[in-house]
Parts: sequence; C-alpha cells; structure tokens
Amino acid sequence: GRHEGASKVVIDLERLEQLPGDELGAVQRFARSIQQQRGDYNGRVLSIRADDLRTLAIVFDVSPAGLIEKLTEWNVLVATPIRP
Ligand code: C2E
Ligand code: C2E
Ligand code: C2E
Repeated sequence: GRHEGASKVVIDLERLEQLPGDELGAVQRFARSIQQQRGDYNGRVLSIRADDLRTLAIVFDVSPAGLIEKLTEWNVLVATPIRP
C-alpha cells in the first residue's frame, strides 16, 4: 500500500510552539486544529496522518519528503517511537 515502509510522523509540540510563527505558522495552526479535532490537549507529542502531511507539504510548496526535511532541520520531529 501507499503507507508501506513509511514511519510514523510524530511532532514535538513544545518545540513547535517555540519556533517563529513566520516560518512554521501553518504547521502550528495545523497541529492545534488536529488537537482540537481529537480532543488531545495534554500530549507533548502529536502523531500526524500521512495524508495530512501530504496536504501540508502543498502549503509549503515542497514534496512530503521535503517537508519532513524542513521539520527535521527545525528539530520538530520526535524520533519515531519504538514499534512493538
Ligand atoms: P474519524 O476519522 O471518523 O475517526 C473517528 C475515530 O477513529 C477517531 O476519533 C479515532 O479515535 C479513531 N481513528 C481514526 N483514524 C485513526 C488512526 O489512524 N489511528 C488511531 N489511533 N485512531 C484513529 P478522534 O481521534 O476523536 O477524531 C475525531 C474526528 O476528528 C475524526 O473522525 C476525524 O474526522 C477528525 N480527525 C482527528 N484527527 C485527525 C487528523 O489527524 N487528520 C484529519 N484529517 N482528521 C482528524
Ligand atoms: P501511549 O499513549 O502509552 O501508547 C502506546 C502505544 O499504544 C502507541 O504507540 C500505540 O501503538 C498504542 N495506542 C495507544 N492509544 C491508542 C489508540 O487510541 N489507538 C490505537 N490504535 N493505538 C493506540 P505509539 O503510537 O508509537 O505512541 C507512543 C507514545 O507516544 C504514546 O504512548 C504517547 O505517549 C505518545 N503519542 C504518540 N502520538 C500521540 C498523539 O497523537 N497524542 C498524544 N497525546 N500522545 C501521542
Ligand atoms: P496514518 O493515517 O498515517 O496515521 C498516523 C498516526 O496518526 C496514527 O497511527 C495515529 O497515531 C495518528 N492518527 C491519525 N488519525 C487519527 C485520528 O483520527 N485520531 C487519533 N487520535 N489519532 C490519529 P496509528 O494509530 O498507529 O495508525 C497507523 C495507520 O493505520 C494509520 O496511518 C492509518 O493508515 C491506519 N489506521 C489506523 N486506524 C485507522 C482508522 O480508524 N481508519 C483508517 N482509515 N485507517 C486507520
């Protein structure tokens, strides 16, 4: 399937909120809206749907891999939690 081999994208919310809004404001707003939809306010991290990452990449005019790279540069991603 399309998700095969893809590891889970997990955002460090504390780190994200520390970053300048002019650069990653869209990601900050996106994360807040997902928290709201899930009622998931107390986490330090947030797992993101692969489909949503694709959409978010369009906002930044990069490929999904390009967005991952950008988020990695900003140190926003948590190392994928150990899978059972
Ligand atoms: P929904 O898509 O109909 O999902 C209903 C519930 O199924 C979710 O309630 C969640 O408990 C579970 N669920 C769905 N997909 C997954 C998944 O990939 N992993 C896990 N662990 N659980 C899943 P929840 O979290 O309260 O979300 C309520 C609604 O809010 C969702 O209804 C969806 O419409 C929206 N939503 C929540 N998170 C996201 C997101 O990351 N992206 C998008 N596009 N919508 C989201
Ligand atoms: P945790 O909450 O103790 O969950 C451990 C593992 O149980 C998760 O590993 C996942 O495989 C499973 N799990 C927990 N809740 C659900 C659920 O509602 N639906 C499904 N299908 N599986 C569930 P995972 O995903 O690798 O996450 C590791 C840890 O990272 C979690 O530990 C949690 O502390 C944190 N985390 C990851 N994503 C989120 C997120 O979107 N929101 C919050 N608040 N915490 C998250
Ligand atoms: P994915 O769609 O790429 O979602 C990646 C992770 O984002 C999920 O890992 C979960 O931690 C989080 N997530 C996504 N949507 C929701 C949501 O609506 N509510 C909450 N609380 N968390 C969400 P997880 O749970 O380990 O699922 C791995 C993959 O399994 C998902 O990748 C998706 O492809 C599939 N999946 C799991 N549950 C459902 C579901 O209820 N409906 C659908 N259509 N696919 C699901």
